[in-house]
Amino acid sequence: MDKLIIAIDGYSATGKSTHAKALAKKLNFTYVDTGAMYRAVTLFGLNQNPKNIIDLRLLNNSLNQIKIHFEEGDEEQQTFLNNENVTKVIRDPRVNKNVSMVAAQKPIRSFLNDQQHLLALDKNLVMDGRDIGTVVFPNSFCKFFLIANPEVRAKRRYLEQLEVGFEESLEEVLQNINSRDNQDESRVTSPLQKANDAIEIDVSNLNINRVFNMLYNQVLKKLESIKK
Ligand code: C5P
Repeated sequence: MDKLIIAIDGYSATGKSTHAKALAKKLNFTYVDTGAMYRAVTLFGLNQNPKNIIDLRLLNNSLNQIKIHFEEGDEEQQTFLNNENVTKVIRDPRVNKNVSMVAAQKPIRSFLNDQQHLLALDKNLVMDGRDIGTVVFPNSFCKFFLIANPEVRAKRRYLEQLEVGFEESLEEVLQNINSRDNQDESRVTSPLQKANDAIEIDVSNLNINRVFNMLYNQVLKKLESIKK
């Protein structure tokens, strides 16, 4: 039987990864953070130039030098770029500022799309991102699209960034979120958009447990319907 994929797409800082992790744990699926993959490629690009300015042509031509893998950590899943643990550094504001530009590159999307397919060869997955339900796994049995107003999302991301030691003002975080959303929605290749068959949830005024229960109940329903 084909492996099962749950796709959670949506805007930045809507809690996609929190819920994807929790669903994966509850269902014994593997969690894949595709945003971390785009972030790792961005970090590679920043490190290619001593001035930390990404040369997109050079980066597009260096994709065969990039190896990304995940390992389960004590608490968090860990992201590795060429065997170096980059879990924290990919959340750096420098990466935030450049990642959407990198993610708009067709060769980079195609490179990561292939890797995302390899991960699904032998595992059931909960994958979060921007194009999972539309492009990467359009046949996912269960698709969600999370939205929330930008202020709620900025506050959430601001607190998360503080927790991992990156101090940015709420305003800077809000600006970055808006700018990434715009770039992600307007790019030509695999723009951020809701799949026709995705369940949209506005999480602006819902607490985390409520959202999780909504997602989990929908997954159970979908699982029942594919068993029939
Ligand atoms: O999910 P996260 O906010 O970490 O993603 C960082 C960026 O990576 C997004 O703003 C987007 O530009 C890009 N991305 C993407 N497609 C995905 C996942 C992330 O374009 N499937």
